[in-house]
Formats: sequence, C-alpha cells, structure tokens
Amino acid sequence: MIRTKFVDASNFMTKTSLGHDFTCNPYVGCEHGCLYCYAQTMPSFLNRLEKWGTYVDIKMYPNYNIQKNTGSKSLLFSSMTDAYQPIEATMSCTRKILENIYESNLKVSFLTKSSLVVRDIDLFKQMKSVEIGFSIAMDDYWKEIFEPNASRPSERIEAIKTLHQSGVKTYVFISPIIPYVTNVFEIIDKVKPYVDYFMFDKLNLKDTINKLRIYQVVKNKLPEKYNDFVHIFDSKKNDYYEKLKNDIKTYLIKENLQYHYLY
Ligand code: SF4
Repeated sequence: MIRTKFVDASNFMTKTSLGHDFTCNPYVGCEHGCLYCYAQTMPSFLNRLEKWGTYVDIKMYPNYNIQKNTGSKSLLFSSMTDAYQPIEATMSCTRKILENIYESNLKVSFLTKSSLVVRDIDLFKQMKSVEIGFSIAMDDYWKEIFEPNASRPSERIEAIKTLHQSGVKTYVFISPIIPYVTNVFEIIDKVKPYVDYFMFDKLNLKDTINKLRIYQVVKNKLPEKYNDFVHIFDSKKNDYYEKLKNDIKTYLIKENLQYHYLY
C-alpha cells in the first residue's frame, strides 16, 4: 500500500549540474523501491519515517510556465524519482507537464524503468527533441529482488521496440552493473537493434546502509559468490570494473554501437 499526499512545489524545472541544464521530478519518493537506490540516502529522504518505496508525494505546481531564457536547454526527467512509476497511470503529472512543453525547444530526456512511458508516444512524436532512456541491469528474476515494483526488464525491452518503431530516439543505461547479477553483453544483444546509444555505470555502494542491504541479498541469493563480491567493493583496486569496462568497449567497437558514458 503506497501512502500518497499532495505537496506544493514552486516550479517543475530545477537547475542542475548533473549533465543537464534542468531536472524535473514530478513526484517525491518512488514506488519502484529499488534496493540500491541512492536517492533514498539523500538527507531530505533520510529524515522521513516511512520506508523508501512506500510513499509518494504528488507535486502541485502553480503553473507550467517554462522559465525564461531556457531556449534549447536540456531537461532530464527524472533524477530522484521515476516519472513513470505506477501512480503516474492515474495521476498523469508527467503527462500534464509534457502537454505544456511538447511544442518548446527544450531538449528533453527521460530515464525510466517503466513501460508506462509508451502511453505518451503521441506527444513524443511531436516534440522537436526528445529521447527515452531505460535503465536495465538484470533479467526478470533478479528484478523481483532488486527492483520490486518496476516494470519487468522484458517489458521494458518491448517498450523500447515500440518507441523505436515509432521513430522516437531511445537509449539504454545499463546501470547499476551488479557483479554476478548483471549480464551486460546479454542486455546489449537483446536491445541493440532498437537503441541509438548506450550508457553504463557501476554499482555505487558508498552509503553504508545501502551496502549492507546489498551484501545481505548476495549472501542469501549467491552465497558461493559472496566473498568475491565483498572483495570487489572492499578492496582498493578496481580490477573487476576496469576489466569489464575494457571488455565492453571492445565489444561496442566491434559491433559498431554508440555509447556516451562509461564509468
Ligand atoms: S526507479 Fe530510480 S528513483 Fe525509483 S527507486 Fe529505482 S533507482 Fe530509485
């Protein structure tokens, strides 16, 4: 059961330094409840009594005016939530924003784990600049453990196909790469006909609570790999991810596939 409430927000666009000019997070909190989510470790969320993934605040904006002098600047949905989490199916907060910006010159980028995004294909097709990115880092089995309320990766792949076949630009962010869970090359092979480019990132376990949570899952589900897994994150060397990075680069070059960011 998700607890929801409405909260006032001043503007739907927030300036950022995260590789885009602005971000838009139509909700506070995220029903997807990913175990590794770094957003839950931010001070503003740590102060909440509810468990991450069990609450969503719905932002209410006084208007949907685009800030002055934004021109063709870039806007990322979303950095601290998922704009297409299940509540969007009934609240349509993301769609409402899109209806107000789809004729603008903004360069709009989405990153989601939800196949609900295909609902808004009619607007994407009319936008001057939009790209839809999907995070995929595991198969349907592991998703139930690490990303309990997100769409299944197989459903995300179907959504990528649908968007691609409609002429919408797509990308896949293989992240977080979880040792012994993420099969990077299998994911690349499954989606490569339908995506314009890839991005990659490793698992970030800087937060102690997140780290213990993930270690516990590995201990329970992959006991034979537990010591190796801990070694990867506790040793000063970065051999596992460095070797993987080189292997990924070699594969992408051989396959003539584009990438914009590799950890
Ligand atoms: S979808 Fe993103 S924001 Fe939502 S819980 Fe997962 S990692 Fe966090």
